[in-house]
Amino acid sequence: MASAPTSLPPTLSARVVIIGAGIVGANLADELVARGWNNITVVEQGPLDLPGGSTSHAPGLVFQTNPSKTMTLFAKYTVEKLLSLEKDGFSCFNQVGGLEVATTDERYEELKRKLGYATSWGIEARLLDAAGCAKLYPLLNEELVLGGLHIPSDGLALAARATQLLIERSREAGVTYLGSTPVTGIEQSSGRVSGVETPNGTIPADIVVSCAGFWGVEVGAMVGMSIPLLPLAHQYVKTTAVPELKGRNELPNGANLPILRHQDQDLYYREHGEQYGIGYYGHRPMPVVAASLGMTPQQVNEQNMPSRMAFTPEDFEPAWKASQELLPALRETEIADGFNGIFSFTPDGGTIVGQSPDVDGFYVAEAVWVTHSAGVARAVAELLTTGRSTIDLAECDVSRFEEVQFARTYVSETSQQNFVEIYDIIHPLAPRESPRNLRVSPFHARQRELGAFFLEAGGWERPFWYESNALLLDKLPSEWQPIERDSWSARYYSPIAAAEAWKTRTAVAMYDMTPLRRLEVSGPGAIDLLQKLTTGDVSKKPGAVTYTLLLNEQGGIRSDITVARLDEETFQVGANSPVDLVYLTREARRQRQEDPLRWVQIRDVTGGTCCVGLWGPLARDLVSTISDDNFSNDGLRYFRAKKATIGGVPVTAMRLSYVGELGWEIYTTADNGQRLWDVLWQAGQPFGVIAAGRTAFNALRLEKGYRAWGTDMTTEHDPYEAGVGFAVRAAKEAFVGKAALEGRSEDTASRRLRCLTVDDGRSVVLGKEPVFREGEPVGYVTSAAFGYTIGKPIAYAYLPSWVYEGDPMEIEYFGNWIRATVTREPVFDPEMRRLRG
Ligand SMILES: Cc1cc2nc3c(=O)[nH]c(=O)nc-3n(C[C@H](O)[C@H](O)[C@H](O)COP(=O)(O)OP(=O)(O)OC[C@H]3O[C@@H](n4cnc5c(N)ncnc54)[C@H](O)[C@@H]3O)c2cc1C
Repeated sequence: MASAPTSLPPTLSARVVIIGAGIVGANLADELVARGWNNITVVEQGPLDLPGGSTSHAPGLVFQTNPSKTMTLFAKYTVEKLLSLEKDGFSCFNQVGGLEVATTDERYEELKRKLGYATSWGIEARLLDAAGCAKLYPLLNEELVLGGLHIPSDGLALAARATQLLIERSREAGVTYLGSTPVTGIEQSSGRVSGVETPNGTIPADIVVSCAGFWGVEVGAMVGMSIPLLPLAHQYVKTTAVPELKGRNELPNGANLPILRHQDQDLYYREHGEQYGIGYYGHRPMPVVAASLGMTPQQVNEQNMPSRMAFTPEDFEPAWKASQELLPALRETEIADGFNGIFSFTPDGGTIVGQSPDVDGFYVAEAVWVTHSAGVARAVAELLTTGRSTIDLAECDVSRFEEVQFARTYVSETSQQNFVEIYDIIHPLAPRESPRNLRVSPFHARQRELGAFFLEAGGWERPFWYESNALLLDKLPSEWQPIERDSWSARYYSPIAAAEAWKTRTAVAMYDMTPLRRLEVSGPGAIDLLQKLTTGDVSKKPGAVTYTLLLNEQGGIRSDITVARLDEETFQVGANSPVDLVYLTREARRQRQEDPLRWVQIRDVTGGTCCVGLWGPLARDLVSTISDDNFSNDGLRYFRAKKATIGGVPVTAMRLSYVGELGWEIYTTADNGQRLWDVLWQAGQPFGVIAAGRTAFNALRLEKGYRAWGTDMTTEHDPYEAGVGFAVRAAKEAFVGKAALEGRSEDTASRRLRCLTVDDGRSVVLGKEPVFREGEPVGYVTSAAFGYTIGKPIAYAYLPSWVYEGDPMEIEYFGNWIRATVTREPVFDPEMRRLRG
């Protein structure tokens, strides 16, 4: 996550301007004053009592459970905060509970999976059968419903009221609010914000946070920042009075029944006193350009606000029919009022948080639902005041997107797709169908010839297995035979992966590692920069490769990287998300400001280069037939790099392997890529070389216990909890995060990432499932795979430190309990004979 402002240390007196007084902006002002910051101005283009953004008409349903731990924890905090926000004896949260019903078998299974998420992330939930649903919600058509998921702590946020109370509270604490004041520009000086322009003059600012909701694109443009967000309209109606609701609710907008979701028909419901409110996502996407709305602030009222467009009844027809089927009481009603309300969608459905990569001090907190509003605001307040959010922000970071994903055509298509799929049942591996083939490696044509099955991530096409290897299945020894999978874990999976794993362990395989990010870090200040930011010693002689960590000041893992010293002043860094590039670039900028002689250049060379991971016990035999360079154990030792020529292709070879076998990551430029593939392929034929995909790769890396950033470790974990303490060189004089690690070790960690193997040898889980000890939830799965070499499924899970090797655990998967045992790791080749051989 982007660090605190650079040239200006976080300080109580930093002048903060927040753009937008919706639920996010008001919450942020409140969170900042709660942390003692005292120089805050909130600028809102609409009237403060009803600004006219999405919050002004949000029905405020809060369903907390989400596949994302981060988003669920944001929602949980929002519920807690709004419950405690009271005036005149009424809080801003009506905790009526939430009920999601299933009308198809597939949805009922999905609700079981969701129950797992709720348990993993610490939300109490229970599955109900149809009768249980009807008992809880008597207006339901019981015959239509198969069952439901009940979350007692869900409910209704009184969003507009909460915003007013937060404005009131923070104003009393000294925050200045300027209503009916549009921000028209943002001033910058020496690469950081210096003020905010309005028709009434410029407001000086050290930090500007855009909480402008679906106007985010326009506000971002004021600093030249692309915001990958698309405003879309979404239909919401209120019915006439429902006889069955008469007398149930004292307040005109009150509610007693749980909030209700009927996702099989893209619908949700709440009470408004005697009326029903119905939200619908099943209609065509209706994109809007915020700048075109052309509303002046003076015109805002309940019926007339920029975020509220005219209702299009024809789009609502299927919803009305489906609603009357689910809730027969609605048959006696009509639609009293409806509108098409606007809010923000993004390419991956996530929120957008963080600092501009180019303009210091400019932050965004956009595409935030009411559900997550207080949680996001707290995270941004923590970021500003301490440089780090307690809850990991990687999934929300505005810098998580790849360059191609900022293109407006991409944002538009994928955000609309997200709208369409918002309530769909999506498999965690499901790729988007369009746009595809945005980024392909130089090996793509060859991979297609071999029948690669591609999944997409970050715009890259990545082979998961190759149909050409199906022939190997007949030759598989019995102990390598793939197991039958359940229908969910069998999606985006092929048993061919077993054959690819077998060949990797017994012969040699080629893996396309091109999509892994490569940064070239060079210049006279490169060594200082990397020494300061990493936990390892990267000052070794050229040719050394170091696996090391980037920590934040609190000791949380921002990323794990490999640093190869190519020459005195040039390093190749194998990194993770684009966030790493932004972080290194910002820190390089800071170093140069401090000392111009220690300049560093950071280039993302991923697209211009490519990489084959050539791994397996026969890898050395293969390479020695087409290279005169010394690839012997002494010629290129483990964790060393050197330039070489393979089959006439100039390469850089690094002796590393995520699959735990002898071999090298072989890099060359993109133009040489296809020839590199071809020479390896041809020379490999006598050795039985195969191309292998990510399904096998993931299984093999888990057998070796190699952690994946983002799932197995995040900023919420320190190196000892994540099991990568070996990458911390405590003797090093100074590095970011060192002070925070003082006194910590594996022994002091209260939870640790542990390896589980599944007792029945066949039940595969996928990740995020809750783990139980004697019936009590104690942790959650991060990564999982079938360990082909050991013939058992493997799951890594965060578990309390009082759990020991050999302890029996249970993993809940679709409501079933799978027995598993805490196992010594790695489960394959702990002596590293394969790698060092
Ligand atoms: C019909 C509908 C139903 C919804 N239902 C739910 C729900 O049930 N649960 C849920 O969690 N979410 C729901 N949402 C989404 C939710 O309403 C929004 O995500 C949320 O309100 C966004 O809050 P915000 O503060 O980011 O944006 P906003 O409330 O839009 O606030 C942004 C503010 O920034 C101001 N602004 C913009 N540009 C400028 C500028 N240049 N100068 C000054 N001020 C500026 C705007 O005037 C606005 O007041 C719904 C949305 C709609 C449309």
